[in-house]
Amino acid sequence: MTAPDAFDPRDYQPKPRALEGRVILITGASSGIGRAVALACAAAHANVVLVGRSAKKLDNVHAEISALGAGEASIAQLDLERAVAKDYDQLADALLTRFGRLDGLLHNAAILGTLSTVGDYDVPLFARVMHVNVTAAFALTQVLLPALKQSADARVLFTSSSVGRRGRAYWGAYAVSKFAIEGLSQVLAHELEGTTPISVNTINPGATRTAMRRAAYPSEDLARLATPESITAPYIALLGPVSRGVTGRAFDAQRL
Ligand code: NAP
Repeated sequence: MTAPDAFDPRDYQPKPRALEGRVILITGASSGIGRAVALACAAAHANVVLVGRSAKKLDNVHAEISALGAGEASIAQLDLERAVAKDYDQLADALLTRFGRLDGLLHNAAILGTLSTVGDYDVPLFARVMHVNVTAAFALTQVLLPALKQSADARVLFTSSSVGRRGRAYWGAYAVSKFAIEGLSQVLAHELEGTTPISVNTINPGATRTAMRRAAYPSEDLARLATPESITAPYIALLGPVSRGVTGRAFDAQRL
């Protein structure tokens, strides 16, 4: 087993049934990276809880997972922009009733907002981006902590970005939200370390061929970008048993 300090999820070679018996919840599982990671988790025999705002898109991912004939999927429709306390409570209650615990929580859903100078940034849009990307992740983590504490070896994995580790002009609310996610991950990791078997880390997927990337770089050559399917192995590593004891760290899914 790799020592926690030397752990790099990019070195991980996927193993069959790597997530067997694990219950893993993924936000933004309807498309892009979240969909690809959900399929990879199910292929690794996890029970996957798909969270997203579009019932139709979630149904499609559910059908794709069923066709794999490996792990099972269930759907929890939740619009992170509109959800209120009762919606979060219902999700946590349903999860505890069905599975009795949660072994992995991937915060993947996010919105880009707009690219603009701080001087020109629309303040209501700033608040929306912060709400979906940070406040919703905070609230979901809080409500799911009791289920995570029922696991013998749980993971919380937050999704970051290169602009959440070093600020860059025009990235506005999105960059601020990803810095906040790095902070939330560090605070939670520190709170849980030593007293629970819950590891908490962040992952930066790197440039990946999705709708969000297209919105940020409309004229980019898509063929040069990694596909969501090609970057799932580091996610499996950080959601699975091989990352036991690795906590409070910030990782990249790609070699930059
Ligand atoms: P994407 O294709 O736009 O997917 C984003 C996901 O979040 C979708 O499933 C989307 O649902 C969901 N979502 C958005 N708003 C939501 C809401 N209000 N309630 C529930 N779900 C909501 O983006 P992506 O590129 O896969 O991004 C995934 C993660 O990686 C994000 O955290 C992003 O910041 C991060 N990231 C991406 C890149 C990249 O190059 N792609 C680079 C660095 C970091 P719908 O399907 O309904 O739209």
